[in-house]
Amino acid sequence: MKIAVLSGKGGTGKTTVSASFAASLPCCQYIDCDVEEPNGAIFLTPELKISSQVKVMVPKSDMSKCSACGNCAKACQFNAIALVKGKVLLFPEICHHCGACVIACPDDAIIEVKRTIGVVESNVDGTFLQGKLNVGEPISIPILRELKKRIKNHMTVIIDCSPGASCAVVQSIEGCDYCVLVTEPTPFGLHDLKIAVRLVKKMGVPFGVILNKALDSCRIIQEFCETEGIEMLMEIPFSQDIARGYSRGILPVEIDHLWKEEFKKTWEKIESGVKK
Ligand code: SF4
Ligand code: SF4
Repeated sequence: MKIAVLSGKGGTGKTTVSASFAASLPCCQYIDCDVEEPNGAIFLTPELKISSQVKVMVPKSDMSKCSACGNCAKACQFNAIALVKGKVLLFPEICHHCGACVIACPDDAIIEVKRTIGVVESNVDGTFLQGKLNVGEPISIPILRELKKRIKNHMTVIIDCSPGASCAVVQSIEGCDYCVLVTEPTPFGLHDLKIAVRLVKKMGVPFGVILNKALDSCRIIQEFCETEGIEMLMEIPFSQDIARGYSRGILPVEIDHLWKEEFKKTWEKIESGVKK
C-alpha cells in the first residue's frame, strides 16, 4: 500500500507524521519527495550510501548553422527559448525538456545536451529514499519520477510530499492508495487544508486528516471536518515535549512508546479507508 502525506502549507508537521509512520510500521519504505528541503533523514537517520545524479536533456544551439528563422521560439510553449536580434537565447532553467524546438528547427542547429538538476540518494536496501533539487532549479518533476521508479511495491510505502498543492504534489500523489492531510488549528492551516482537500478530491484518492498541535481552545479544523464528512485520523496535541524532541531530531514515537501505538492504530484506520 502506498500513502502520501501532504499539507497545504509548510511547518505543519508533515515530516514528523511521515517519519513517525515509517518508524512505527514494519516492512516500510520511506520516500522523501520534499526535494527542496528533504529532512526525513534527520529523524530516520539512514546511512545514505547510494547516490545518483538526475539529468535532463536541454537544447543547445549551434549559431553557425542557424538561419534565424525563429521556429524554435514559436514551438516552445514555456518561453525557454527566444530569438533576439537574430540570436537564439536559451533559458535552460525553465526548459521542460519536451524536445519541440529540436524538431522545429529546419537547419539542425539545435542539439540536446545533458544537464544535472539534482540527486536521488538512498540507503543500501532502498528502504529510505530522498531527492534533492539543486539550488535555483525550479522544476522538480524529473527527480520525483526517478524516486517513484524506485518504489518497492511489496512494501508499505510512505511518501512525504512537498508542502502546498503544486504539480510536484500531484506527481507525488499519483498512484497512491490514500492521502494523509496534515494540518494545524490556525486560520492559515484551515485555508490551506481546504485547498489540499480540493486537490485530493479532484484526484479521486481517499483521504483523512491528522491535526497537529491540536488545542482545546480552537476547534476550527474539527468543525470543518465534521461539516465536510472528512475522517479525522488522529490529533497530536500541542506539546512542549514533542516540540523539544522535534528541535533535536527526535520523533514523538521515540519520546513515548504510546505514540507508536497511536500511529499503528491510525494506520488501521487508513487501511479500512482504503478498503472502503
Ligand atoms: S525542449 Fe521544449 S521546453 Fe525546452 S526549450 Fe525546447 S521547446 Fe522549450
Ligand atoms: S529553429 Fe533553428 S534555425 Fe531557426 S532560429 Fe531556431 S535554431 Fe535557428
